[in-house]
Amino acid sequence: LLEVSGLNKWFGAMHALRDVDLTVGVGERIVVCGPSGSGKSTMVRCINALERYQNGLIRLEGEAINADCDSVLGARRAIGMVFQSFNLFPHLSVLDNITLGPRKLLRLPRPDAESAAMMLLSQVRMEDQARKMPSQLSGGQQQRAAIARALAMNPKLMLFDEPTSALDPEMVKEVLDVMTALAEAGTTMICVTHEMGFAKAVAHRIVFMDQEKIVETADPAAFFAGDCCDRARSFVGTTA
Ligand code: ATP
Ligand code: MG
Repeated sequence: LLEVSGLNKWFGAMHALRDVDLTVGVGERIVVCGPSGSGKSTMVRCINALERYQNGLIRLEGEAINADCDSVLGARRAIGMVFQSFNLFPHLSVLDNITLGPRKLLRLPRPDAESAAMMLLSQVRMEDQARKMPSQLSGGQQQRAAIARALAMNPKLMLFDEPTSALDPEMVKEVLDVMTALAEAGTTMICVTHEMGFAKAVAHRIVFMDQEKIVETADPAAFFAGDCCDRARSFVGTTA
Protein backbone atom coordinates (compact mmCIF):
# COMPACT_ATOMS: atom_id res chain seq x y z
CA LEU A 1 0.00 0.00 0.00
CA LEU A 2 2.66 2.46 1.12
CA GLU A 3 6.27 2.46 0.08
CA VAL A 4 8.84 4.86 1.49
CA SER A 5 12.30 4.50 0.01
CA GLY A 6 15.49 6.42 0.57
CA LEU A 7 13.58 9.30 2.16
CA ASN A 8 15.74 12.28 3.09
CA LYS A 9 14.53 15.59 4.39
CA TRP A 10 16.31 18.73 5.48
CA PHE A 11 14.98 21.79 7.28
CA GLY A 12 17.47 24.28 5.88
CA ALA A 13 20.85 22.85 6.81
CA MET A 14 19.38 20.50 9.41
CA HIS A 15 19.09 16.89 8.28
CA ALA A 16 15.73 15.73 9.66
CA LEU A 17 15.33 12.32 7.97
CA ARG A 18 18.14 10.11 6.70
CA ASP A 19 17.59 7.27 4.25
CA VAL A 20 14.26 6.17 5.67
CA ASP A 21 12.77 3.02 4.15
CA LEU A 22 9.39 1.67 5.17
CA THR A 23 6.84 -0.55 3.47
CA VAL A 24 3.32 -0.95 4.79
CA GLY A 25 0.91 -3.52 3.40
CA VAL A 26 -2.89 -3.42 3.52
CA GLY A 27 -4.07 -4.25 7.03
CA GLU A 28 -0.64 -3.77 8.57
CA ARG A 29 -0.18 -1.87 11.82
CA ILE A 30 3.11 -0.16 12.52
CA VAL A 31 4.03 1.52 15.77
CA VAL A 32 6.80 4.13 15.53
CA CYS A 33 8.68 5.11 18.67
CA GLY A 34 11.92 6.77 19.58
CA PRO A 35 13.35 9.77 21.42
CA SER A 36 12.18 13.34 21.00
CA GLY A 37 13.59 14.97 17.90
CA SER A 38 14.35 11.67 16.14
CA GLY A 39 12.12 12.53 13.19
CA LYS A 40 8.92 10.59 13.90
CA SER A 41 6.52 13.49 13.27
CA THR A 42 8.51 14.63 10.27
CA MET A 43 8.22 11.18 8.73
CA VAL A 44 4.45 10.94 9.14
CA ARG A 45 4.03 14.53 7.96
CA CYS A 46 5.96 13.69 4.80
CA ILE A 47 3.74 10.65 4.24
CA ASN A 48 0.65 12.84 4.52
CA ALA A 49 2.14 15.47 2.18
CA LEU A 50 2.29 18.06 4.96
CA GLU A 51 6.07 18.39 4.56
CA ARG A 52 8.12 18.46 1.42
CA TYR A 53 11.05 16.08 1.21
CA GLN A 54 14.10 16.44 -0.99
CA ASN A 55 15.40 12.95 -1.74
CA GLY A 56 13.81 9.55 -2.03
CA LEU A 57 10.25 8.62 -2.82
CA ILE A 58 6.97 8.03 -1.04
CA ARG A 59 4.36 6.10 -2.95
CA LEU A 60 0.80 5.22 -2.03
CA GLU A 61 -0.57 2.48 -4.27
CA GLY A 62 2.21 3.34 -6.68
CA GLU A 63 1.34 7.04 -6.83
CA ALA A 64 4.17 9.39 -5.82
CA ILE A 65 3.40 11.71 -2.89
CA ASN A 66 5.20 14.93 -2.08
CA ALA A 67 3.95 18.18 -0.59
CA ASP A 68 4.68 20.15 -3.76
CA CYS A 69 3.16 17.92 -6.40
CA ASP A 70 -0.32 17.45 -7.81
CA SER A 71 -0.87 14.38 -5.69
CA VAL A 72 -1.28 16.36 -2.46
CA LEU A 73 -5.07 16.39 -2.41
CA GLY A 74 -5.33 12.77 -3.45
CA ALA A 75 -2.85 11.75 -0.77
CA ARG A 76 -4.64 13.67 1.97
CA ARG A 77 -7.95 12.19 0.89
CA ALA A 78 -6.57 8.66 1.02
CA ILE A 79 -4.70 9.11 4.29
CA GLY A 80 -6.37 10.03 7.57
CA MET A 81 -4.31 11.86 10.13
CA VAL A 82 -4.82 12.35 13.85
CA PHE A 83 -2.56 14.81 15.66
CA GLN A 84 -1.47 15.17 19.25
CA SER A 85 -3.38 18.44 19.58
CA PHE A 86 -6.76 17.22 18.16
CA ASN A 87 -6.98 20.08 15.60
CA LEU A 88 -10.76 20.11 15.31
CA PHE A 89 -12.23 23.19 13.60
CA PRO A 90 -13.20 25.25 16.67
CA HIS A 91 -16.10 27.07 15.01
CA LEU A 92 -17.86 23.88 13.86
CA SER A 93 -19.91 21.39 15.85
CA VAL A 94 -18.64 17.83 16.16
CA LEU A 95 -21.07 16.74 13.47
CA ASP A 96 -20.01 19.52 11.09
CA ASN A 97 -16.33 18.74 11.73
CA ILE A 98 -16.96 15.19 10.60
CA THR A 99 -19.19 15.93 7.62
CA LEU A 100 -17.17 18.81 6.16
CA GLY A 101 -14.69 16.63 4.25
CA PRO A 102 -17.23 14.16 2.88
CA ARG A 103 -19.56 16.99 1.80
CA LYS A 104 -16.96 19.28 0.24
CA LEU A 105 -14.45 16.77 -1.12
CA LEU A 106 -16.52 13.65 -1.73
CA ARG A 107 -19.64 15.69 -2.67
CA LEU A 108 -21.85 13.62 -0.39
CA PRO A 109 -25.32 15.13 0.22
CA ARG A 110 -25.69 16.44 3.78
CA PRO A 111 -28.18 13.76 5.01
CA ASP A 112 -25.92 10.96 3.77
CA ALA A 113 -22.82 12.57 5.28
CA GLU A 114 -24.66 13.07 8.57
CA SER A 115 -25.95 9.54 8.84
CA ALA A 116 -22.46 8.21 8.09
CA ALA A 117 -21.06 10.60 10.70
CA MET A 118 -23.52 9.37 13.32
CA MET A 119 -22.40 5.78 12.69
CA LEU A 120 -18.79 6.84 13.16
CA LEU A 121 -19.69 8.75 16.31
CA SER A 122 -21.28 5.66 17.76
CA GLN A 123 -18.15 3.71 16.82
CA VAL A 124 -16.08 6.14 18.93
CA ARG A 125 -18.81 6.24 21.61
CA MET A 126 -19.69 9.88 21.03
CA GLU A 127 -23.16 9.66 19.53
CA ASP A 128 -24.60 11.90 22.26
CA GLN A 129 -22.06 14.68 21.58
CA ALA A 130 -22.77 15.39 17.90
CA ARG A 131 -24.18 18.89 18.40
CA LYS A 132 -21.52 20.10 20.79
CA MET A 133 -18.72 22.47 19.92
CA PRO A 134 -15.13 21.25 20.40
CA SER A 135 -14.63 23.67 23.32
CA GLN A 136 -17.43 21.89 25.20
CA LEU A 137 -15.64 18.54 25.07
CA SER A 138 -12.94 16.91 27.15
CA GLY A 139 -9.59 16.21 25.52
CA GLY A 140 -10.41 12.53 25.14
CA GLN A 141 -13.75 13.36 23.51
CA GLN A 142 -12.09 15.83 21.15
CA GLN A 143 -9.55 13.24 20.14
CA ARG A 144 -12.25 10.62 19.53
CA ALA A 145 -14.12 13.17 17.40
CA ALA A 146 -10.89 13.81 15.47
CA ILE A 147 -10.55 10.08 14.85
CA ALA A 148 -14.16 9.95 13.59
CA ARG A 149 -13.45 12.91 11.33
CA ALA A 150 -10.43 11.18 9.81
CA LEU A 151 -12.39 7.95 9.32
CA ALA A 152 -15.22 9.80 7.56
CA MET A 153 -13.07 10.10 4.45
CA ASN A 154 -12.79 6.32 4.40
CA PRO A 155 -8.99 6.48 4.27
CA LYS A 156 -6.78 3.66 3.06
CA LEU A 157 -4.24 4.45 5.74
CA MET A 158 -4.53 6.09 9.16
CA LEU A 159 -1.64 8.05 10.64
CA PHE A 160 -1.58 8.86 14.33
CA ASP A 161 1.04 11.19 15.78
CA GLU A 162 1.14 10.77 19.55
CA PRO A 163 -2.67 10.89 19.79
CA THR A 164 -2.75 10.39 23.55
CA SER A 165 0.24 12.35 24.77
CA ALA A 166 -1.72 15.56 25.38
CA LEU A 167 -4.37 13.75 27.42
CA ASP A 168 -4.91 13.26 31.12
CA PRO A 169 -4.26 9.64 32.12
CA GLU A 170 -7.92 8.71 32.50
CA MET A 171 -8.66 9.87 28.95
CA VAL A 172 -5.76 7.98 27.42
CA LYS A 173 -7.55 4.69 27.82
CA GLU A 174 -10.76 5.79 26.09
CA VAL A 175 -8.76 6.87 23.04
CA LEU A 176 -6.57 3.76 23.04
CA ASP A 177 -9.71 1.61 23.26
CA VAL A 178 -11.05 3.25 20.11
CA MET A 179 -7.72 2.76 18.35
CA THR A 180 -7.57 -0.87 19.44
CA ALA A 181 -11.07 -1.42 18.04
CA LEU A 182 -9.94 0.11 14.73
CA ALA A 183 -6.95 -2.20 14.74
CA GLU A 184 -9.17 -5.20 15.34
CA ALA A 185 -11.37 -4.09 12.43
CA GLY A 186 -8.33 -4.36 10.15
CA THR A 187 -7.48 -0.66 9.70
CA THR A 188 -4.06 -0.07 8.17
CA MET A 189 -2.21 2.27 10.51
CA ILE A 190 1.06 3.93 11.31
CA CYS A 191 0.99 5.11 14.87
CA VAL A 192 3.63 7.21 16.56
CA THR A 193 3.16 6.49 20.25
CA HIS A 194 4.99 5.73 23.44
CA GLU A 195 2.06 3.69 24.76
CA MET A 196 3.96 0.46 24.89
CA GLY A 197 0.98 -1.61 26.09
CA PHE A 198 -0.90 -0.56 22.97
CA ALA A 199 2.15 -1.27 20.82
CA LYS A 200 2.51 -4.73 22.27
CA ALA A 201 -1.17 -5.49 21.78
CA VAL A 202 -1.76 -4.25 18.25
CA ALA A 203 1.49 -3.68 16.32
CA HIS A 204 2.65 -6.05 13.63
CA ARG A 205 5.97 -4.24 13.60
CA ILE A 206 7.76 -1.75 15.83
CA VAL A 207 9.84 0.88 14.08
CA PHE A 208 12.40 2.53 16.34
CA MET A 209 13.84 5.87 15.26
CA ASP A 210 16.89 7.68 16.60
CA GLN A 211 18.90 10.57 15.21
CA GLU A 212 16.85 11.07 12.04
CA LYS A 213 16.94 7.39 11.08
CA ILE A 214 15.05 4.16 11.45
CA VAL A 215 17.58 2.21 13.46
CA GLU A 216 15.49 -0.87 14.06
CA THR A 217 12.38 -2.59 12.71
CA ALA A 218 11.32 -5.40 14.97
CA ASP A 219 8.67 -7.93 15.76
CA PRO A 220 6.88 -6.64 18.92
CA ALA A 221 7.40 -9.82 20.93
CA ALA A 222 11.14 -9.75 20.24
CA PHE A 223 11.34 -5.99 20.74
CA PHE A 224 9.74 -6.06 24.17
CA ALA A 225 11.69 -9.14 25.19
CA GLY A 226 14.78 -6.95 24.76
CA ASP A 227 15.88 -8.56 21.50
CA CYS A 228 16.74 -5.22 19.90
CA CYS A 229 19.63 -2.79 19.68
CA ASP A 230 21.02 -1.28 22.90
CA ARG A 231 19.61 2.13 22.07
CA ALA A 232 16.09 0.75 21.66
CA ARG A 233 16.39 -1.36 24.79
CA SER A 234 17.38 1.60 26.93
CA PHE A 235 14.60 3.66 25.36
CA VAL A 236 11.98 1.01 26.19
CA GLY A 237 13.39 0.92 29.70
CA THR A 238 12.60 4.62 30.09
CA THR A 239 8.98 4.30 28.94
CA ALA A 240 8.11 1.19 30.97
P1 ATP B 1 8.86 14.38 19.44
O1 ATP B 1 8.93 13.05 20.11
O2 ATP B 1 9.35 15.46 20.34
O3 ATP B 1 7.54 14.68 18.83
P2 ATP B 1 9.87 13.78 16.77
O4 ATP B 1 10.60 12.48 16.71
O5 ATP B 1 8.48 13.80 16.29
O6 ATP B 1 9.96 14.32 18.25
P3 ATP B 1 10.33 15.77 14.76
O7 ATP B 1 9.25 16.70 15.19
O8 ATP B 1 10.10 14.96 13.55
O9 ATP B 1 10.75 14.81 15.96
O10 ATP B 1 11.62 16.64 14.58
C1 ATP B 1 12.84 16.14 14.02
C2 ATP B 1 13.82 17.27 13.97
O11 ATP B 1 13.39 18.23 13.01
C3 ATP B 1 13.96 18.03 15.28
O12 ATP B 1 15.32 18.34 15.47
C4 ATP B 1 13.14 19.27 15.08
O13 ATP B 1 13.65 20.34 15.83
C5 ATP B 1 13.28 19.51 13.59
N1 ATP B 1 12.09 20.17 13.01
C6 ATP B 1 10.83 19.70 13.02
N2 ATP B 1 9.98 20.55 12.37
C7 ATP B 1 10.75 21.58 11.95
C8 ATP B 1 10.48 22.77 11.20
N3 ATP B 1 9.25 23.06 10.75
N4 ATP B 1 11.51 23.60 10.94
C9 ATP B 1 12.76 23.31 11.37
N5 ATP B 1 13.08 22.20 12.06
C10 ATP B 1 12.11 21.34 12.35
MG1 MG C 1 6.67 14.36 17.16
